[in-house]
Amino acid sequence: MNECLELVDECLGLVNECLNFINESLKLVDEYFVPNVVSEWLESRCLLMNAQAVDTATCPRCHQPVNSQAVTCPHCRNELKAYGHPGIPLHRAAGKEYLCDTCTYHADDTCNFPQRPFAKECILYQNIEESKQELQQQRYASSFGATVRSWMRRNQALVLLLVLLFVCLMIALSTT
Ligand code: SF4
Ligand SMILES: [Zn+2]
Repeated sequence: MNECLELVDECLGLVNECLNFINESLKLVDEYFVPNVVSEWLESRCLLMNAQAVDTATCPRCHQPVNSQAVTCPHCRNELKAYGHPGIPLHRAAGKEYLCDTCTYHADDTCNFPQRPFAKECILYQNIEESKQELQQQRYASSFGATVRSWMRRNQALVLLLVLLFVCLMIALSTT
């Protein structure tokens, strides 16, 4: 009888450890996975932007291919960057349109540049559609992490079973 109680005790201890393991895993998903998905997505965006930065661009005036880091167009001397700095892009409106019409800062009324709302050139222009898409991708990345987390919560029994199987497998492997 005593042996039986000891066995039950050991089993309960094992189950307890497994529950702790699940809790730790959930914490890991919370603390590591979600920010990581977001940071990985941001990193890939940065890499993409860097790759685009070293790629060629097209001069808006003469339509010749130019290095996207070029400050002025080597063909027509058109100014491509603001203040002669390759890190400051100079956005230009196409045709008769104004940049402000499609700019985030005009839409949320946070811009106080004097050229607003008739800017044809601007260094701070941010396209509304592009920023919406970026926001959606960020939301998708964080909701994916939340889905994994809630799945683990809903299927704790299955996770526990898998952990037990894994532990058994490890024990079996270590004894052979
Ligand atoms: S940041 Fe530039 S493009 Fe955007 S609203 Fe202001 S002036 Fe217009
Ligand atoms: Zn040019």
